[in-house]
Amino acid sequence: MSIDLSQLTISKTRNHLLRGDFTVQELTESYLKNIAKKNSDINAYVEIFDDVLAQAEKADKEIATQKEKSSPLCGTPVAIKDNILIKGRHVSCGSKILKNYKATYDATAIAKLKEAGAVFLGRANMDEFAMGSSTERSAFGPTKNPHDTLRSPGGSSGGPAAVVAMDGALASLGSDTGGSVRQPASFCGVVGLKPTYGAVSRYGLVAMASSFDQIGPITKTVEDAEIVFNAISGKDPYDSTSAESITQNSKPKTSKFTIGIPSFLFGKETPLEDDVLQNFNNSIEMLKKEGHTVKEVEMPLVKYALPVYYIIMPAEASTNLARFDGVRYGLYAEGKNLFDDYADTRGVGFGPEVRRRLLLGAYVLSSGYYDAYYRKAVAVQNAIRFDCESAFKNVDVIVTPTSPTPAFVLGEKLEDPVAMYLSDILTVVANIGGFPAISVPSGTVMRGKSSLPLGIQFMAPHNEENVLFSIGKEFEIIKE
Ligand code: GLN
Repeated sequence: MSIDLSQLTISKTRNHLLRGDFTVQELTESYLKNIAKKNSDINAYVEIFDDVLAQAEKADKEIATQKEKSSPLCGTPVAIKDNILIKGRHVSCGSKILKNYKATYDATAIAKLKEAGAVFLGRANMDEFAMGSSTERSAFGPTKNPHDTLRSPGGSSGGPAAVVAMDGALASLGSDTGGSVRQPASFCGVVGLKPTYGAVSRYGLVAMASSFDQIGPITKTVEDAEIVFNAISGKDPYDSTSAESITQNSKPKTSKFTIGIPSFLFGKETPLEDDVLQNFNNSIEMLKKEGHTVKEVEMPLVKYALPVYYIIMPAEASTNLARFDGVRYGLYAEGKNLFDDYADTRGVGFGPEVRRRLLLGAYVLSSGYYDAYYRKAVAVQNAIRFDCESAFKNVDVIVTPTSPTPAFVLGEKLEDPVAMYLSDILTVVANIGGFPAISVPSGTVMRGKSSLPLGIQFMAPHNEENVLFSIGKEFEIIKE
């Protein structure tokens, strides 16, 4: 049977499955066929699992017996970023250093999706250890943007975003440390949510910068993002920074919001391309017409978010990645002595961007520089969070474009790390402050003959995902 995958969302699929229009096995076969057709070009998946049809059969049985009582995600085909652990499966974080390493336990988010009956199709490509904004820094080669294969899908969750955009799965899980769910979602024309820090357990997510990292869903609609978020969030005894999601399933107090536009958006620090700004202004006009109030908000310190991020993130990453020493995980290169073992393993196993950040991180943490860089950055981080919290006293949600540009050409920013880092200038703020933020498709712009998607980003106070879902769904409708 042929199923039009482009028309499906999680909630529509659920209705089809309950009505018996098709089975999970038929659905899964359609996905596998489409992946076989597209993945050799797009390179969104690095592995397709060998047991997907068995998983689908199990989900079919669950639906047959439990009917409406089964989870809303039962039978949903999903893709998982290559840095989230699935027991018994390879996990390589897009790196050579984890060659042949297999996960020994399930991440909590995975355990929850398994419990819900999701069908895991495979592992999705990413920048090595989630460091990058283009998915070109992967040991498995770059992922291409399904809207224009000469362009990047964004990163570091470029694989998970491209998978959803090419109808290679209904939803995927990515990780977002500075924008890695939202920026690729915007480049690929899909929805990406970074939850409040602590809303989703980090247990089983390979750590990059632990105080920023969050697992988040990438989906076709805001409603789908909400369904996945509800399934994976909640307090977890294995992650002491996790917390009960207090607003789960609750409605926001109002449906007419006060929307804040940060004035830094129009400053020269933010290199917005002209038609991106125009698209954003159009979106704001539409929101105003729907009865939302729009205000400009001063957030004077937010302009320091990117520099602060590029001190704290490498510091935490250099500490976290110290565990890849050739002894405990994956690759091992034997040298003349123990020091050479480390140097050879890490020198060969890590790619250039990871090595750059490990050096930077070790430098900003070293005695003599710690006070000047790391400690200062943490002080400014707190000030930025305070800046945002002050703004949230006057507005319900802060809105910006997700990224200053649409998808850029592969290779364009590879030799210029700062240009690459600037791609996240509008997304890092949410990670610095621990706030939830969502990217929703906001239309397209032309580059040459390609029509490229853009995203609008909504950021809310801690634990106010419900505000993001409410305004995000409304935006999808008015955008139609
Ligand atoms: N692109 C950003 C970086 O390279 C964000 C990465 C992420 O969110 N994992 O650090």
